[in-house]
Amino acid sequence: MELSKNTEGVLFDIKRYSVHDGPGIRTTFFLKGCPLSCWWCHNPEGISPVPVLSWHRNRCIGCGRCIAVCPEGAWSESDGGMVRDASLCRGCRICEERCPTLAIDFADRKITLRELVKEAEKDIPFYDKSGGGVTFSGGEPFMQPEFLLSCLRALKEREISAAVDTSGCAPLDYLLEAAEYADLFLFDLKLADPREHKKYTGVSNGLILSNLVRLDEKIASLGRGGINIRIPLIPGINDSEETLKRLAGIAAELATLTGVNILPYHSIGKGKYRDLGREYKMEGILPPTEQEVERALAVFASRGIKAVKGG
Ligand code: SF4
Ligand code: SF4
Repeated sequence: MELSKNTEGVLFDIKRYSVHDGPGIRTTFFLKGCPLSCWWCHNPEGISPVPVLSWHRNRCIGCGRCIAVCPEGAWSESDGGMVRDASLCRGCRICEERCPTLAIDFADRKITLRELVKEAEKDIPFYDKSGGGVTFSGGEPFMQPEFLLSCLRALKEREISAAVDTSGCAPLDYLLEAAEYADLFLFDLKLADPREHKKYTGVSNGLILSNLVRLDEKIASLGRGGINIRIPLIPGINDSEETLKRLAGIAAELATLTGVNILPYHSIGKGKYRDLGREYKMEGILPPTEQEVERALAVFASRGIKAVKGG
């Protein structure tokens, strides 16, 4: 496959030597944009498909250059120091250019298909040694479907294993086409009840669950690949026995299930919400205790599924 210079995507991060995004050592590309807005998202900078300003207050020296250059009046100074009104920002990025301390950044990077493949190829020795490869995450990678599919095709031709970490909230055709090239889907399940799902993620789960079934059928028909279910465990939101039983029931129906990962909620992303000027809705919710994680694992074990913590 000729790598077109013009096929271009937008990332908000690249993580090398990752051991949590699929088997072995991986290079994870985080694609920008997501149709969900989960309360607990630890990559909120990846939700918007367009660039969004992050203000890192700890780097700000209060020089006031941003006030002077912003055409929208988004910056001001009060007795307490610098103030930013995120709702006024139109994303011209002038303040990012002028800020002397890199306190302002937009956390996005355009990348061509050719550049991405080159980045992935740098880590081939690690993939070969560990059984790893490339993972596409986000955001929701299917928000940039043409770019994602081009990347998957190109990597397959180069015999680089690829995984896609998805919410499943995407047009079915894209998922089915991706199954032709990807070796693994990391499929996120959050809640079984559609109303609860809408409340906490912004969308219902009807499409997600029907896509999961169809994707499973497709992978089974191909005779290669698989689906790894990933469940964030969040006290008070999805850790009731009833919810976990329903999620275990969904996983148990999959013919191509490779495993279930229970990912305990953490608040590491909290500071990013402040940097972005976004509301953090998880205030006061603590990570699950070891006993709560064990209890969740036991629910899956009772359905004959070996679930593991983390991953
Ligand atoms: S330009 Fe940068 S360092 Fe100066 S006040 Fe604005 S954010 Fe702070
Ligand atoms: S990027 Fe936003 S905050 Fe910065 S100068 Fe432009 S409009 Fe103002």
